[in-house]
Amino acid sequence: MGLFGKKKVQVFEPPIDLKADSPSPAENQQREIACRQSEAAVPTKELVFDAVARRADRVMLDYSKDVVSGRYMIDGMWHNIDPRDRITGDAMLMALKCLAGMKPEERRARQEGKFLIEHEVTKVKFNGTITSQGVKTGERVIIDLAPKKKRVFKTLNDVGMREAMQEKLREHLRAERGIVLVSAPPGGGFTTTWNATLKSTDRLLRDFIGIEDEGKHETDVENVNMETFNGAAGETPDQMIKKLLLRQPDVFTLADLCNAATVNKMCELASDPNEGKLIVAGVRAKDAVEALLRVLLLKASAKEFAQNVRAVLNVRLVRRLNDTCKQPYQPPPQLLQKLGIPPGRVKALYREWQPPPPDPEREKREMKEGLPPGACPLCRKEGPQCGGIGYRDRTGIFELLEITDQIRDALVKQPKLEVLRKIARAGGHRGLQEEGIVLVAQGTTSLTELQRVLK
Ligand SMILES: [Zn+2]
Repeated sequence: MGLFGKKKVQVFEPPIDLKADSPSPAENQQREIACRQSEAAVPTKELVFDAVARRADRVMLDYSKDVVSGRYMIDGMWHNIDPRDRITGDAMLMALKCLAGMKPEERRARQEGKFLIEHEVTKVKFNGTITSQGVKTGERVIIDLAPKKKRVFKTLNDVGMREAMQEKLREHLRAERGIVLVSAPPGGGFTTTWNATLKSTDRLLRDFIGIEDEGKHETDVENVNMETFNGAAGETPDQMIKKLLLRQPDVFTLADLCNAATVNKMCELASDPNEGKLIVAGVRAKDAVEALLRVLLLKASAKEFAQNVRAVLNVRLVRRLNDTCKQPYQPPPQLLQKLGIPPGRVKALYREWQPPPPDPEREKREMKEGLPPGACPLCRKEGPQCGGIGYRDRTGIFELLEITDQIRDALVKQPKLEVLRKIARAGGHRGLQEEGIVLVAQGTTSLTELQRVLK
């Protein structure tokens, strides 16, 4: 193509703005110019735009010898995206590194940088964090996309807890003394459940003091007076209690029961027959029974803890079927029986929309209609989009374990997962499995999704 013969190509620029995020306006301008002038300016925008449109909160790019493979994290699951060739992929990374103030030529050492994203249509803003590090096969890049909007936490109703369970939980939270645990697997819904639980307490009638590590901010609830400690400097909550007691609180909330001394102190406070306090505390665990054992693993006094713990709330996140495209099917009677769903209770169960087998003719037709390959045709016109996944957003499976004397006894004498689970079941406790089946019967999620999250 000659110098004058160069055809002007109409390039579609995704409506998204990528901005630098340093304290210096001059520096930001320089970074943005470097990013804009990159030959991969448009592909870079396309990647970020697509990730945001598909509600990804993390993008991973793996640079190997010939190709750049990519994945999006959507509702807690990885989804592969189309690979890029190395030339485009390298230029995109160069542009992003320039924007985030990282060294583009450094491909081995770990680097981290920040940038800002603004959707030009919806006006939604995101904080972007990019980390890059050399690995055996080449370089791995992770881009985290976090909405800039302040977190607003939902109520127990909003997060999908059954009415009857809410009532039971509130009963424990109204108690004058004792310990109520809130637990979730690491990275799996703790913050939302913790804040929804605290929102449902009577914190307008009683005095609440919240204690948390200043490096791990979890609590965002009005009328809980927050006190922080510096965990990185070796401080622990138990050291603060003496001073905080002078304020005569009724309730202590601790987002993380981090050491034995804290657990023992909380047991002491909870057990006082006259001035006993209610303690609401967070633990990271896969289910309610495990949460109890996690506390004992801190080497706290099992006897004291068993006497004072009242209940454990646990959550497991599960993806919601997208209402626009979920597919009903008639479950065979044996399946309903296996799930413990009484005959006649549900007319249909639902599964996620499945992409049809490849068919070049159909795909050609769909392309003409403006439907990208792999997209879901059922929810393209109206209603929330599933992005070809069949699911959209997540909800919680909640489990509330109320501590009985049998469980207290076993916590001291036989603190083992299987023993405690058996006792809980015998006492009528409904675990994550049973609670999850309720969501399947309601058509909120699918059986395969339930099996995936509980495996
Ligand atoms: Zn769909």
